[in-house]
Amino acid sequence: MSSFRLIPSIDQVLRRAALQDLIARHGQAPVAAAARRAADELRAQMAAGRDGPASESEALTSLEEAIAARLHASLAPSLTRVINATGVILHTNLGRAPLARAALEQAARVGSGYSNLEYDLAAGTRGHRHTHAEGLLCDLSGGDAALVANNNAGATLLVLAALAEGREVIVSRGELVEIGGGFRIPDVMRQSGARLREVGTTNRTRLQDYAAAIGDRTALLLRVHPSNFRVEGFTERPPLADLAELGRRSGVPLFEDLGSGWLGLDDVETPPPLRDEPSVRGSLRAGADLVAFSGDKLLGGPQAGIVAGRGDLIDRVRRHPLMRALRADKITYAALEATLALWAQAPLRHRIPVYRMLALPLDDIDRRARAIVAHLSGAGGLRGEVRDGLSTTGGGSAPASTLPTRLVSLVMDGLSTAALEQRLRRADPPIVARIEDDRVVLDLRTVQEDEDEQIVAALVSLTVI
Ligand SMILES: *Cc1c(COP(=O)(O)O)cnc(C)c1O
Repeated sequence: MSSFRLIPSIDQVLRRAALQDLIARHGQAPVAAAARRAADELRAQMAAGRDGPASESEALTSLEEAIAARLHASLAPSLTRVINATGVILHTNLGRAPLARAALEQAARVGSGYSNLEYDLAAGTRGHRHTHAEGLLCDLSGGDAALVANNNAGATLLVLAALAEGREVIVSRGELVEIGGGFRIPDVMRQSGARLREVGTTNRTRLQDYAAAIGDRTALLLRVHPSNFRVEGFTERPPLADLAELGRRSGVPLFEDLGSGWLGLDDVETPPPLRDEPSVRGSLRAGADLVAFSGDKLLGGPQAGIVAGRGDLIDRVRRHPLMRALRADKITYAALEATLALWAQAPLRHRIPVYRMLALPLDDIDRRARAIVAHLSGAGGLRGEVRDGLSTTGGGSAPASTLPTRLVSLVMDGLSTAALEQRLRRADPPIVARIEDDRVVLDLRTVQEDEDEQIVAALVSLTVI
């Protein structure tokens, strides 16, 4: 028979050798707090009529284990790796671009020691962090200069504040978009201190609309890539080159917020879903004075906002006080430089996960999907089949653009689709799948190849529970 009297006092528990070890590691107060909560829990469990300890020593052991488990759980990171089986390459909720190994290694090398972040090693004097990555960014973008900010929302805010504060920025009504996560062009404009001058209509804006709005107060022409939606039908907007030409004639710079940042390198075949995407090189070549794009979208690098283009404008942006508030840290620079170096070397580009996923041949996906299905014998009621499907680029690039893929479609006897999807999400590592036609499907395009066996292990373990 168990009784509340078997539960030892907190002092008694804390004197135990195992608890002394925990106190040395975690400190007295957190261990005492964990002990009180564990004792409360045990008492509640016994009060609810469930089996309690049969002896005082059993009570002590069970409390010790509960306290250790609590303290362990309190230190476990909440940010953890997951397997993205959704087929959405730039999945904003799942951290957008996975980083290349070279980028992570460089971040670890730089971050684990001191670095020349703001130190000129040749001169032995203070240097500037903006010198890092700039050379490669210029080579790859075709711009004269480039800067790196914390993210693209920050980069856009920075450009508007530095070049247009207190003055007007002309933008088409069709481009006053909300990108997601609360990035709304009119709000960013307000925050920057620039005044929005809307022209045209939601579906049609002509060059003449921009021309008519240009005046003494005009600081910038702004073009925004409406990355997450598409207006179909009776639509029109002037080609970027025409807008750039208008800007040049009027002495007003043209700034384009590209968002997704597909570089558009001449020797990289553009994947079909991106054929209609504006590119960094394409926009600068067409005459944009500045472009801004994300580091962790199609560039496949760390979170960053990159501005590239005319040197005199970049200089002005760099001198704005917000640059200090929005600057990137050394880990970002390190990972970004390594990612850019991979882009710069044709044979190494497939080491950038986002690029590899975009270019992944259907046959490879099919082969891997079949291998996973072959592991599911139907034992435990779990069956899989391979079928056709579509992956998407996601993350504010190429709206509605898809890539053909092959899906592993799963059913499990006695388990609803929602319950099966939830089981996968609770696996270790968690597997995030998608539901299509009331089936749980796995799209291996966004699963890294070394994760296939983890998926198999998780699926097999579902059948033995
Ligand atoms: C994604 C996106 C942004 C925001 O970029 P972050 O790097 O997430 O800050 C801004 N503008 C456009 C057009 C985008 O697609």
